[in-house]
Amino acid sequence: MSEATATQQKRPRSASLDCDVVVVGAGFAGLYAIHKLTTLGFHVQAFEKGKGVGGVWYWNRYPGARCDCESYYYSYSFSPELQQAWDWSLRYSEQPEILSYLEHVAQRFDLERLIRFETAVVGAAYDDVSSAWRVTTSDGAVTMTRFLVTAAGCLSEVHWPDIPGLQSFEGRLLHTAQWPHEEVDLSGRRVGIIGTGASAVQAIPRIARQAANLTVFQRTPNWVLPARNAPASSEFTAWYKANYPQIRQRCLDSGGGVPFDPPLGAAFDVSDDERQAVYERLWAQGGMRFFTAFTDLFMSEASNETAQAFVRAHILATVRDPQTAHKLVPTDHPIGVKRPPLDDDYYETFNRENVTLVDVRTDRIEQIEPTGVRAGEAFHALDDLVMATGFDALTGAILAMDIRGRSGAKLSEKWREGPQTYMGLGVAGFPNLFTITGPLSPSVLANMPTAVEQHADWIADCLVHMRSAGLTSIEPTETAEREWTAHSDEVVSATLYPRATSSWYQGANIPGKPRRFGVYVGGFSAYRERCEAIAANGYEGFRFTAPANA
Ligand code: FAD
Ligand code: NAP
Repeated sequence: MSEATATQQKRPRSASLDCDVVVVGAGFAGLYAIHKLTTLGFHVQAFEKGKGVGGVWYWNRYPGARCDCESYYYSYSFSPELQQAWDWSLRYSEQPEILSYLEHVAQRFDLERLIRFETAVVGAAYDDVSSAWRVTTSDGAVTMTRFLVTAAGCLSEVHWPDIPGLQSFEGRLLHTAQWPHEEVDLSGRRVGIIGTGASAVQAIPRIARQAANLTVFQRTPNWVLPARNAPASSEFTAWYKANYPQIRQRCLDSGGGVPFDPPLGAAFDVSDDERQAVYERLWAQGGMRFFTAFTDLFMSEASNETAQAFVRAHILATVRDPQTAHKLVPTDHPIGVKRPPLDDDYYETFNRENVTLVDVRTDRIEQIEPTGVRAGEAFHALDDLVMATGFDALTGAILAMDIRGRSGAKLSEKWREGPQTYMGLGVAGFPNLFTITGPLSPSVLANMPTAVEQHADWIADCLVHMRSAGLTSIEPTETAEREWTAHSDEVVSATLYPRATSSWYQGANIPGKPRRFGVYVGGFSAYRERCEAIAANGYEGFRFTAPANA
């Protein structure tokens, strides 16, 4: 018997409902939510668009896809047995291994029987009278549920930009986030890639090693940091397995859901030589630890510039052709405020004879033609074109569903000028809707398995509270939502984040999308404490209702 079925307590649900909770999505968030809620005796029905579990790790199969948070903490903490059972082969595991892990979790906790695959939730309408959601799926079926929990992903709604002639391309047209499941052999091919975000930065070195030639179409250069991926030694594996409780606690107590030592002081508290030594040390360690150098990197232009200068010098020293090197240096945003990719020989790749960088800010992509891309004066003949053009992030997957709250109000209308939420967990006027890592929660600025577990646990505790108190609906008050949204805006406005004007953090990558910084930047631990205080204070900021006859 699986661990899950052993602990589940079955209980009858309301006769008019098909289930207690509908969960949308079966990635890290959906899988954990299903497990947690069924373990507590809730009847759950989950829907997943894909043919299998895994979410991001099911869809993003491009060459080089792997995590940028180290695997020993980019993983679930909820089961000590699972933690001890799973060994990671690399410091940052690659997509196939992370997908295997999530498949193992689904199997170990017997979750797949509760998921309807290849079925998208297309709409959900709240019925005021029955305090229930009527959920419509792509197969035409309707599911009545008390609660609707979205675990649809911050980075799952794929962005295909509207470039003239894109559909006329007669070669293979690929997207990093919809990569085919079968092997894509790029050897000997003339490949083009549009985009230089985190996906492209991982894919470019791998594709360059296979293809006859690779043309990189770059609109905005990114600050790329070394990942320093390496096999996980048996000593390292023994270390993290022996220290999981402390590692997880450090994640919970940190600003980014990661077990890093926090910075000790500001960039100008130390001499130039000492500052350089700090950057050298963190650069050598690799990964996002670079941002633990100083306390004020995200607050002070001058401090941030010291980090930029360090990385700029590295780019200019690594890339041999000076023109190419200068094109690769970001000039439009401070370092760290747009999601920095981690590399595996990214800058070195531009020294290869078979790699060409096209700056599409000066050489605009005019047209995609059946046999290639016309940019500026030049035509680039291609066999394969890879779109590494990202996602309609944070709100995209939620708004792709036609969600209607009280009196038929549309969520898309409510968020016309940007998302408004209370804690990124709920939306006023949309009772019994919970959004795991929803807009205006720390989400993508935290290590996401940590953020996902914290949200799912909070939601589960809330549903248990409602069950014990005989409550049928919960929703944030307008005041709480307005105050949280204003607080989120205010916190970010005091930082350098808004300076990244092309960032998906604020919706800038999608033409016509309203601009609001969609992630809470006040820090994961402070946010978590606030969630705990809200619950401890009787779910302050939320309004409950009980059935009329109660
Ligand atoms: P997802 O994994 O996106 O899962 C959402 C699921 O919902 C998908 O399977 C989707 O098909 C399904 N879905 C969406 N809409 C519907 C619908 N209407 N009906 C039915 N199903 C639906 N974060 C980190 O913290 N560290 C990392 O190192 C890291 N690496 C990443 C690498 C890549 C390539 C990408 C794209 C993202 C990465 N992220 C990383 C962010 C990532 O989003 C999270 O780590 C995590 O995978 C989120 O899990 P999730 O379950 O919330 O969402
Ligand atoms: P992204 O960061 O949004 O990058 C998309 C790229 O495509 C950008 O360079 C963008 O340029 C470019 N682009 C978009 N439309 C274009 C157009 N019309 N013409 C030319 N260029 C265009 O997407 P992503 O690389 O898929 O990454 C998204 C997020 O997923 C990351 O930030 C990260 O959070 C996550 N991710 C994580 C990992 C990891 O942790 N290992 C790996 C991959 C992805 P502009 O910048 O000018 O818009």
